[in-house]
Amino acid sequence: MPAEGHGPGAPALDHWIAGAATPPLSGGRVDDVDPATGEVLARIARGDADDVERAVVAARAALAGPWGRATVEERARVLEAAAAGLEARADALARLESEDTGKPIALARAMDVPRAVANLRFFAGAIRHDETPCHRTDGRALNYTLRRPLGVVGLVTPWNLPLYLLTWKVGPALALGNAVVAKPSELTPRTAGVLAEVLAEAGLPPGALNVVHGLGPEAGQALVEHPDVKALSFTGGTATGARVAATAAPRFKKLSLELGGKNPTLVFADADLEAALDGTVRAGFTNQGQVCLCGSRVLVERAVYADFVDALVARVRALRVGDPRDPEVQLGALVSAGHRDKVEGYLRLAREEGGRVLCGGERPTDLSARVARGAFLTPAVVADLGPACRTVQEEIFGPVVTVHPFEGEAEALALANGVRYGLSASLWTRDLARAHRVAAALEAGMVWVNTWLLRDLRTPFGGLKDSGVGREGGRWSLDFFSDAQNVCVALEGAGPPPAPTA
Ligand code: NAD
Repeated sequence: MPAEGHGPGAPALDHWIAGAATPPLSGGRVDDVDPATGEVLARIARGDADDVERAVVAARAALAGPWGRATVEERARVLEAAAAGLEARADALARLESEDTGKPIALARAMDVPRAVANLRFFAGAIRHDETPCHRTDGRALNYTLRRPLGVVGLVTPWNLPLYLLTWKVGPALALGNAVVAKPSELTPRTAGVLAEVLAEAGLPPGALNVVHGLGPEAGQALVEHPDVKALSFTGGTATGARVAATAAPRFKKLSLELGGKNPTLVFADADLEAALDGTVRAGFTNQGQVCLCGSRVLVERAVYADFVDALVARVRALRVGDPRDPEVQLGALVSAGHRDKVEGYLRLAREEGGRVLCGGERPTDLSARVARGAFLTPAVVADLGPACRTVQEEIFGPVVTVHPFEGEAEALALANGVRYGLSASLWTRDLARAHRVAAALEAGMVWVNTWLLRDLRTPFGGLKDSGVGREGGRWSLDFFSDAQNVCVALEGAGPPPAPTA
């Protein structure tokens, strides 16, 4: 296992290149800090262009070797064995993820690790059952489609769901026979190291998966710029996504961008309001509000607005904030002290913009000694802000929701769609026709009706507007991590070909 120690003697976490832990050529290190305690958990390799170069060379060598010749069945077996390997280390992985991110250990156990396991299993199944189209051309020809691996692909992932999102990309990339260079978030690097080891134990040849740690503008930028990296799957903030796109586009790299959100939760007066309350709290505050899919704008039909907001505030006040190791805790620390400061800045801005903080937004004072200096913030509900306020327009990515009344579907949709983002939405109603009508009119890549974050890995995942470009999930991931090649075979005796067309 990689770094698990604490304090001044925190262990080094090296890159994983060509099947082995590899120190950075520069010797540089970055601290990986536990945001709940402030302890240094690991001194991670500070990767740069030279380390990326070594990783890409290793990836190319893997493609030229046995990995490049591995059959679908062999690749699927590696992914299945790795899924079992992650499962066998579930407790340790949940602990690493909880320490790196500050999230409750209970959440890491219930969500992050099982989903990482499911991602690898899912793509093992997906590649086994994959089908490609065949087109018969007027009895003259058969066209069939081959999926070709892209070659070396770059994966860049954020800190909020580290292993969950990395496996979501590693699974399909390897299933299709690509070789990977991954750059995990510098804030939460440790489970990526375990994944590399687990895949090696599962039989993945050296170089087929490489992990380069380090800072975004250094290791990340070098990966995006590298001429032999044919595609980039990036998940992170919208501003970073724009930089990645600006670098990758002139180099004609295939690009998938999963970016930020400012997602609405729409509650109609005819909804099952108890269920809607549960869903609104879950959508607002899971992972301290640090899920790209979190519903941070709560839109409530005016007839039930006052009662709903009162009940929402009561539930939010009752959420338990504290030591992520405590299995009863529902909200842990934010990912870093710096991020906590940013969220607090938005709460100050909300007040300046005329908002009323109905609850939360404070540093808790009842924390146990172990975590007393951690990056905690009580969950906040803010009312009375107009739709144009920055607090309502910009992604805060913390435990803060704003509440807004609306009158009827047209106003609900105007509010819901009135931001630059378009990642997801959840809507709560008992009226079936309304559910379909509103869902279709919402500018969001994913809409949940009477639920939130119910995921089927076969479905398209991704955002509209400034929330991203492209889709991942199911066959969309298989499409992204491969090139489609059409083969046109003339049928014998089909007669002379027609005049050529483009
Ligand atoms: P971020 O954009 O700061 O960083 C994401 C990754 O990009 C990190 O690994 C970082 O080191 C790297 N990076 C930074 N600069 C880079 C550069 N110039 N070139 C290449 N890589 C670079 O995002 P974050 O703060 O880690 O994560 C939070 C953001 O991610 C939020 O905006 C959230 O909405 C978004 N997110 C989106 C999804 C989705 O599926 N749409 C999922 C999770 C998180």
